[in-house]
Order: sequence, then structure tokens, then C-alpha cells
Amino acid sequence: MSAQAPETHEFQAEVKQVLDIVVHSLYTDKDIFIRELVSNASDALEKLRHTQLTEKNIFDDNLDLEINLTSDDAAGTLVIQDFGIGMTRDELVENLGTIAHSGSKAFLTALKENGGMNENLIGQFGVGFYSVFMVADKVEVYTRTWHQDGEAFLWTSDGSGKYTIEPTEGQRRGTKIVITLKEEYKDFAQDSRIKGVLERYSSYIEFPVNLNGEKVNTTQAIWLKGKSEVTEEEYKEFYKFQAKAYDEPLDWMHFTADAPLTINALIYTPSTNPELLGFGKTEAGVALHCRKILIDQDPPELLPEWMRFIKGVVDSADLPLNISRESMQDSSLVKKLGEVISKRYLKHLAEIDRKDSEKYEKIWRTFGVFLKEGVATDFTHREKLSELLRYESSMTEPGKLTSLQGYVDRMKDGQKAIYFLSGSSREVIESGPYLEAFKARGLEVIYCYEPIDDFVMSNLHQFKEKDLTSADQDELDLGESNEAPQGEELPKEQLDALCAWMKETLGEARVKDVTAGQRLVESPALALNADKMMSSHMRRMMKAVAQSRGEDQSGMPASVNLQLNPRHGLIKRLAELKDSDADTAKLVAEQVMDNALISAGLLEDPRTMIARLHQLLEKV
Ligand code: ADP
Ligand code: MG
Repeated sequence: MSAQAPETHEFQAEVKQVLDIVVHSLYTDKDIFIRELVSNASDALEKLRHTQLTEKNIFDDNLDLEINLTSDDAAGTLVIQDFGIGMTRDELVENLGTIAHSGSKAFLTALKENGGMNENLIGQFGVGFYSVFMVADKVEVYTRTWHQDGEAFLWTSDGSGKYTIEPTEGQRRGTKIVITLKEEYKDFAQDSRIKGVLERYSSYIEFPVNLNGEKVNTTQAIWLKGKSEVTEEEYKEFYKFQAKAYDEPLDWMHFTADAPLTINALIYTPSTNPELLGFGKTEAGVALHCRKILIDQDPPELLPEWMRFIKGVVDSADLPLNISRESMQDSSLVKKLGEVISKRYLKHLAEIDRKDSEKYEKIWRTFGVFLKEGVATDFTHREKLSELLRYESSMTEPGKLTSLQGYVDRMKDGQKAIYFLSGSSREVIESGPYLEAFKARGLEVIYCYEPIDDFVMSNLHQFKEKDLTSADQDELDLGESNEAPQGEELPKEQLDALCAWMKETLGEARVKDVTAGQRLVESPALALNADKMMSSHMRRMMKAVAQSRGEDQSGMPASVNLQLNPRHGLIKRLAELKDSDADTAKLVAEQVMDNALISAGLLEDPRTMIARLHQLLEKV
């Protein structure tokens, strides 16, 4: 074949538009051009493999299905060669000169919808083959179709409006792209630079990817294999590779789905929680792939935020490769995908609990705080998550846990609510003033030790149609006590008078209301939280935070109701004292109030109390 003069072609108008933006935009992620070209090479090999199934007569049929990259640091060139299906002359014009293919088309559509040039847009889409012009002065595409009677062609362009096509000689089957890098991007011809990019995006490509003769993709995409084809060792190794972790996974879930989306997923539950170790907020750790090619290592939009502790890979052939971080946010496909994964994962956890409760307990103790965060923040999964909650309670042994369902199963006939108490430990809750009344009635109380539990309980609000109620709330009707009341009660008239007098004496700033209560067995008085919106525990937490920041805390006084024990000697004495010695009675009333606040951990400032105690002691 004799050398013919190169034919010059104009790019289609739309291509020019894309090229113009690609070349002139300030798109920062230049290295994606390697991902795009390698994935095109992989597509071409895949198509050839497919063709081999039906066609006998294939050009260069003995060639290995592989991708070879060679770089010349000094010359600033990079060559990407595949032995795939190659392109005919018509295909060259069609594929590289017009916009008929997916990624760039979506880009253009978005461009039109957004009313023209927008520099941000380029960041939202990969633009396939054309992305090479971000870094290249000149691109030469040598290609030889798989058809025996085909010819080889050279396509050349500098990305400025035109390209040429001419016949060429001596080509192997497939496509060889020779990239002459722009001066400022010559570093893409460095072995280590390319290797880094390949490892990041192309680790799992089906076909061998060789860089200067050395294979770089040694890791297999085990998530696409059947469960029986993967050994336990391989699962663990892959976890360490994927999550860049040093621990062993506690568990993994490997599943495939065909509807509504094609999904291959491998989801790991790690064995350590870096957030608990004080490492700050964990980043999303489930990577998104499309047929083995990485789309995003840690897409924050894929899964709800509370699932950031899980690691792994999700692969869906339904995703467009060109989807990017920014466009993922509004992608309904990504949403659907995330929905399937999170539902599956929750189901999986419930299954672990059924089959191996010890293992579930380990997961709960390490990652329970994330599940709690989910209950508090993720309405969609709240119900399923609530079944996974575990707590100590007044009926569990110390250190043993119960589910809310376990609590409900033990509820007494006629019990209206699920009760809980917050405090930093079992000891703190059990020595506090609130449990007494529940114990006396044989009512179970859930123990909440963590600040987030308040949000969990208030957001969850109900479990199996039972209200979740803080046991330090006022206005709880607990029903009759099992224990017979000890001693005589103060007559109603005197009691009412005492309550009114105390309310008046203590003043509105200190107490919202004073009533006689049936809850108490041993203490003379009980400070109950009158604030439905905030538990005493949460208030203590908020105060501690304000204090640690040196902020003024005077604007957050506790709203408290005082409940008197009408059988208690001290209360009966006080009823008399207020008429015989009003001054002393006032001191006693205030001290009763402060004592109740101390028990509840709500006393603001003990200094006035000390002075008052001294006054009282003087009277003895
Ligand atoms: P997409 O891959 O989304 O179709 P690209 O811009 O990456 O878009 O590629 C455009 C088209 O060019 C491809 O669809 C393919 O037909 C053709 N092409 C690109 N690279 C190769 C290659 N290495 N071998 C064969 N055909 C290729
Ligand atoms: Mg492509």
C-alpha cells in the first residue's frame, strides 16, 4: 500500500465545544485521562473477547488480551496500547470525531441545560477520550480493526478543531495511542506518576495492565466472583488492601443482585472503630465501581452518613463511568444503589444477631454508636435500626444487654411506656433518686450511658407503639406500688398548704411547681425534670460543654418540679415548722430543694448552700 496524503476532517461542532472546555477549563483532576483511556482499552478488549465467541477469522488472533503502557520520560510521551477490537476508518470518524457516545453526550446535554459554557461543568463529567487533550499537545491514534480484510489507520489531532486520518502500516490488532504531553504535564511520562494513577483507578481491570513491561494490576476483583470461589484468606487480604486497614474484618457481606439494579457488593464490618480511638470523623469507605473500574474511592452520597464505618466495594454495571462526585449527588441511580446496600446491611446485622449473638454484640459494642446516630438522624432506616439497639437495664446483669424488643416482651400488663434513665454509668443511675419508684413497682428501666442516647430516645419516640419515656419526667403515672406505703400521710389540707407555701417561698426561679407525689419511698423530696424537650442528663452535658468553653451558663437554668413525699418525717415536720418558725422553715425548705437537686445532679452552685447549712447548724 502506498502512502496517501492525510485527509483532514473537522470535528463535529459539538466536539469542538467539548474540546474547547476540556482544554481551557481549570479542571484540576488531570490524571483521569489515564483512567478514561485505560477503560476504553479495557472495553475494546472485552468487545474482542465477545467477538471471539462467534467469529473464527480474527486478525492477530494469537495476541494476548492485555493493555500495555510505555512511557518515555525524556521525550515526554506516553503510549497506551491494547489488542482489542480496533477501529475501521468509518469507526474512527464516528467514534472520535462526533459525539455519539454516552459520557460526552451527557456532558453536552448538561451544558445545554445549564445555558452554555460553565467551567464547573467539566468537573462534573469525565469526557472520555477527549480528556486526553487536557494534557496533550498531540494525540496519535494508530488502530487496526479485528476484521481480517481491514486496514490500519493513523488518526492525529492537536485538539484544536481538526484531525487527520491516513493509512498506516505494520499495526497489530487493536489501538495504540501515542500522547505527546504538554510541557507542563510532562510528569505524566514518569513511571511512578502513572503507576500511582493506575493503582488508584485501574487496579481491578480484568485484563493485565503492564507499565513499561511490569504488570501493575495484581489485585483481583473478588467481589465479582462467586462466594465459593473466594477463600477466607482472600477476603481478609482484600479488606486490608481496600480499606488500607491493619485490623482484621469482623465480618463481611458478599452479595449480588439483578433487580432493580445489577449490583455486586462486598461490604466489610471492621473490628476497630477509629472514632472511638479519638481519630476524628471517619470518611465514607465504600468505593463505587462500574465493571471493575473505580468511579469514586469514597463517595459520600452513596450511603447514609452513619454507615461511614463500613468498608468495601460496590460495583454496578448500570452506572455510567463518567459519573463524577458532583453529579452523584443528584443521581437517582446512586440513591437507589445506596438504598439497596443499606437495607441489605441492616438485614445482615439482624441475621448475625439471630445466628451468632456474640458476634453481634461485638459489632454493637464497637459500632453501636453509629447505629444510634442512624436512629437519631436517618428517618428511612429508623425502624430497622431501632431493632438493633442494645442497652443495659435495671433487669439485666451489669454488663449484659437487652434489645428494646426484649424489654417489650417483659413489660407488665398495663404498662404504658418504655422507661429509660440517663447517666454516665450504672452506678450513677442506680444511686440516683429516680429509680426508686420504678423498682418499687417492678418496672424495668433502660440505662442510657451515652450523650447520644438522649437524641436516640427523643427521635425514636416510640418502639412497637410504646412511648419511650424518660424516668426523670414529671407527670408519670406509674400505678400502684408493690410495697405497702410506710407510715401515715400528711392530711391533704396541710399537704396542699405546704406545697403552696414552698412554691411561694422557693420562688419561680428555682422551682416550677411543688406537688405531693407517690413516687418516693425513702427520700423526702424529688427534683423532676419539667422540661419535656430535654432530659436532665442532656442538660448536664450541655452545661459541661458550655463550661469547658468558658461560656456563660446562667441562661440555661434547669426547669424543675419538686415532688414531696407526704409520708416522710421531715416533710411532716416542715408542715408544722412553717407556721411556728417561718424563718427556720424557709431555710429547711431551701435545703430540701438543694438536696433534691444534688441527688439529681442538677445543683448549679453549692456556695449558697454551704452558707445556709451553717445558718441551720447554728440553730441546733
Ligand atoms: P465512551 O467510552 O463513553 O463511549 P469515549 O470518549 O471514551 O466514550 O470513547 C469514544 C468511543 O471511541 C468509544 O465508544 C469507542 O467506540 C471508541 N474507542 C475509544 N478508545 C478505543 C479503543 N482503545 N479501542 C477501540 N475503540 C475505542
Ligand atoms: Mg470511554
